[in-house]
Amino acid sequence: MPIHIDAHGQLHHDQAHNFALACPHCQVLSHLTPVSVPDYAQLVRFKPSHVGLVYRCDACNGPVFLKYAVKIYAANRVELASGFQELERAKEKFNFTYLPEDAEALFREALDCFGAGCFNAFASMCRRTAQAVFVDLGDNGKLRMFDQLNDVREMAELDQETFNLIRKVLFGSDGEPRPNMPALDAYSAGVLLEAIKDLLYQAYVRRGRLQQAMTVRRYFADDADGKVTPLAAAQFATGGGVPPKGRGGA
Ligand SMILES: [Zn+2]
Repeated sequence: MPIHIDAHGQLHHDQAHNFALACPHCQVLSHLTPVSVPDYAQLVRFKPSHVGLVYRCDACNGPVFLKYAVKIYAANRVELASGFQELERAKEKFNFTYLPEDAEALFREALDCFGAGCFNAFASMCRRTAQAVFVDLGDNGKLRMFDQLNDVREMAELDQETFNLIRKVLFGSDGEPRPNMPALDAYSAGVLLEAIKDLLYQAYVRRGRLQQAMTVRRYFADDADGKVTPLAAAQFATGGGVPPKGRGGA
């Protein structure tokens, strides 16, 4: 009798003190406190096969909705199955800043599919993301990504079966004989997610950050050489005030 609602409408959960989930709002693995439990009289009257409970995330105070199957309507309590369905799941994060528009739109949807637990839809969106990326990066970029996937395999010590599956999703062609998309379960989808995040990071985010950092370095190096006009001098040049003392001024 791990979870039940008693005749007074109290929820009893033997793991209540360490019941934690990744919160869909703050993404923290947080303890959940039940705040809204179905009314006992209503349950007994209508005997629904599933019930919804609302918990409070102890980290951010946000509501977390869970759905439980009812195991049995007993004499003085309603017993719930220990498994539950999360109605809102924590969203996967990714830095989209440096991705081309096409790839960004497709990968955002891919992450939504993953968050909703639709792992095969997620795999299809990953393939479409990869196709958009290959168009953007060209054949050389595609080959480079293939090498990177091999690196991921080595570093993460992926087994051959999972690696083949991920390779097929990302590098397989829609024109191959059916089924050209393998079926994914929660584990292989999780591995695919980490792999594609790493590939996109290497291809775009890392490059974008480096280029941005180099631009900033160049700007300050030029500034130190006096090639960049200080703001006050620029204002003076346009008739805005007194020339500054020191560098570039009097
Ligand atoms: Zn939270």
